[in-house]
Amino acid sequence: MRLSKGFWQTFKEAPNDAEIPSHILMMRAGMLHKAASGLYNYLPMGLRAIQKVENIIREEHTKFNFFECKMTMVTPGELWKESGRWGKMDGVMLKAKDKNDRDVCLSPTNEEAISEIFRKTIKSYKQLPLGLYQINTKFRDEIRPRYGLMRGREFIMKDAYSFVLGKEAQDKIYNEFYQVYTNIFNRMGLKFMAVEADAGDMGDEDSKTHEFQVLAENGEDLIVYGKEGKYAANIEKAITKRTVDSVKGDNELEDFPTPGRSTCEQVSEMLNIPIHHTLKALAFNYTKSGEEKRVLIFVLGDDSLNEVKFKNFFGAETFFPTPLKELEANNLPAGYMGPQDHPKEEIYFDEAIDLDGLYVVGANKKDFHTKNFRPSRDCPQANSGDFRLTREDDVVSTTGEAIEFKKGIEVGHIFQLGDKYTKAMECYVQDENGKQAIPQMGCYGIGVTRTVASCIEQNHDENGIIWPAAIAPYHLYFGVIGKSQETKDLASEIYQELNLAGIETVFDDRGVGPGFMFKDSDLLGLPLRVVLGERDYKKDGLLEIKIRRTGESHKVSREELIPKVKDLLKDL
Ligand code: ATP
Ligand code: MG
Repeated sequence: MRLSKGFWQTFKEAPNDAEIPSHILMMRAGMLHKAASGLYNYLPMGLRAIQKVENIIREEHTKFNFFECKMTMVTPGELWKESGRWGKMDGVMLKAKDKNDRDVCLSPTNEEAISEIFRKTIKSYKQLPLGLYQINTKFRDEIRPRYGLMRGREFIMKDAYSFVLGKEAQDKIYNEFYQVYTNIFNRMGLKFMAVEADAGDMGDEDSKTHEFQVLAENGEDLIVYGKEGKYAANIEKAITKRTVDSVKGDNELEDFPTPGRSTCEQVSEMLNIPIHHTLKALAFNYTKSGEEKRVLIFVLGDDSLNEVKFKNFFGAETFFPTPLKELEANNLPAGYMGPQDHPKEEIYFDEAIDLDGLYVVGANKKDFHTKNFRPSRDCPQANSGDFRLTREDDVVSTTGEAIEFKKGIEVGHIFQLGDKYTKAMECYVQDENGKQAIPQMGCYGIGVTRTVASCIEQNHDENGIIWPAAIAPYHLYFGVIGKSQETKDLASEIYQELNLAGIETVFDDRGVGPGFMFKDSDLLGLPLRVVLGERDYKKDGLLEIKIRRTGESHKVSREELIPKVKDLLKDL
């Protein structure tokens, strides 16, 4: 691409809403144009990087015989009503009525649409296993779109769906997708990790699901990583243990005044005891099948609630802290709630609590707490569960490993869905015995645009982006310094040669000064920069190749240029 003819412009400053490097750099490097909150136009330079990602995705899916299709972006409401999700996705689904007053929506995902294709086309087990994918625009009306492409409202997703008969085939195809994803992110040169993820209410009890997380400081997800490398899970899902001491004894319950001290920190400080010798009360209401329920959960004083585990444990559709008025009406004073003397409440103790230990708890009256609360003695009707958020001093429950936290960006997610959708949408096939059978379904997503952004999060410096060659919009930035026609002609010839050799080149023939040109080139961050400097070339007949990532440079003759560029690109 000749810059004198191309559509590309850089900017000194990023807009105010750009907070993280990928967003700032994509805006400054003229790759994106904001249309509205969470809506971005992809400009030519940005689109090329996106298409590189798409092509790698295509190639790796094709290798495993998964076929590309493309579904409509607007899907009929009818399908969503059949699966039962029409009313359940209001948080993200943008709905509309068409001219004929029919419900439609912009696809946030396509399980229903693919099931509709499946049931109209596939009749026999002989046509299985089936793996189809598309690369398409999705719309999710996110509450907090931010960070540019990282969390958009409109974004590009690759979504694949598989249909098989039986658990064994389901595991096999799942493993294949796992491999496809590993290959894709490896080819892009990303540092990533596949981690166990929360399945929510998407699959069966034993459904597998993994997220592919790109490790990055600005990641929104927290990964619990076993230090021996045997375990990795999203904190939402992580199953870890905390081992702390507890006080033993037979002492009787004893109320004592704690005026104005409503938190476990304050109470433990006042008594000069470890905070994990106190219990924290959490009162929540949740809804399920239209009914609202209240529960009291107790965790160790310095633990906090894992909201995803809460939701899964109770099968809650929504949940929120119990309103103050309701607490007061039920003798549950905020800051001073205890588990004792509430025979009618549904009470749960977190598993980290020693049911035979003695704890300090709220006294159920304002400005008082109670000592020597023993769960097994003083609230035997309570249940237990795993409700707390993993702490960095936990160990993995299954492997006993110490853990560390890592921040990640979820770029991919693979899921076993069981027969949830195939059943609801009546996707039947005939099995080997001529009997009607319900296939198992899987779904597998990659955030294409998010992947581009996460790549920049991992690959940049203070001057700009540092693209891995696999997804760089172009391979090489070719600049010319010099005003003579002879130099310009020579540069044009070299540019042609690069093109003919299949080296994707941005040719800076704008005639701008070297300072300006080098700044733009660094900001855009193509893997290599080649400069034809009139003065030097006249002296020694050499061009300079500079590697963006390392700053290392090589002087080469015109003849050596293309082989050297090809050679260098192999490792970039
Ligand atoms: P998140 O937890 O980040 O909201 P999700 O779990 O809802 O994402 P999935 O339904 O698993 O997302 O979608 C598949 C992939 O699509 C995700 O792994 C992610 O890479 C991408 N994705 C999801 N939401 C967005 C978004 N708002 N902007 C850009 N990419 C997204
Ligand atoms: Mg996900």
